[in-house]
Amino acid sequence: MAGDGRINRHGIGMTSARTRERLIERLRRQGIANEAVLERIRTVPRHLFVDEALASRAYEDTALPIGQGQTISQPFIVARMTEALLAAGPLQRVLEVGTGCGYQTAVLAPLVGEVYSIERIGVLLRRARRLLRELELYNVKLKHGDGWTGWRAKAPFDGIIVTAAPNDVPRSLFAQLDEGGRLVIPAGPAGQQTLFAFTRKGNSFEQEELGAVSFVPLVQGTQ
Ligand code: SAH
Repeated sequence: MAGDGRINRHGIGMTSARTRERLIERLRRQGIANEAVLERIRTVPRHLFVDEALASRAYEDTALPIGQGQTISQPFIVARMTEALLAAGPLQRVLEVGTGCGYQTAVLAPLVGEVYSIERIGVLLRRARRLLRELELYNVKLKHGDGWTGWRAKAPFDGIIVTAAPNDVPRSLFAQLDEGGRLVIPAGPAGQQTLFAFTRKGNSFEQEELGAVSFVPLVQGTQ
């Protein structure tokens, strides 16, 4: 696969097989059951998404800094959100808000038709674009912009995943969800966030709570 050259250059390709396996076993114990999701976590080279100095910690189940005050999400959370997004069946068009380093995007992309991903910080978006191209994930469209208002030109979506937390879910995200579509989003003030999954039924939205989480805030505007 395309990443192999870099995996070897980083020198941890071989030794990481066992650590990756341990991570998968841990996610299973914590209740992740979707095999396709577990397989993506096993194969996506997470060490390429973090700074070289942190590469040896890439297969630990923790969030890590990626610069600009942002983080790469914890593998358990990425697995949980992806599983929740896919729970109602296959998805064609997915909006992701908060590309960050692109790790969640890379896990998700082969599992759905197309991913439209928005990031508000330009330098992160450019880095993610290079990496996703290197991993040959061509069904991903990236945009530098404010995902608070969704991506109107590409709506409606049958799935929306948000990887930063607003206090309250922005209305435009509900509005861009197709009938039967799923919106997976953390919401609430710092220290008191909950992960939600909403399913659109006509003009109402069925709500499920998926537990307490800790995300960076969803911020308006771009930089
Ligand atoms: N999905 C990433 C995690 C990203 S952290 C992963 O797989 O690791 C959350 C990201 O959301 C940050 O990069 C932050 O800049 C971005 N973000 C915050 N508010 C945003 C907004 N309004 N629109 C788009 N991106 C936003």
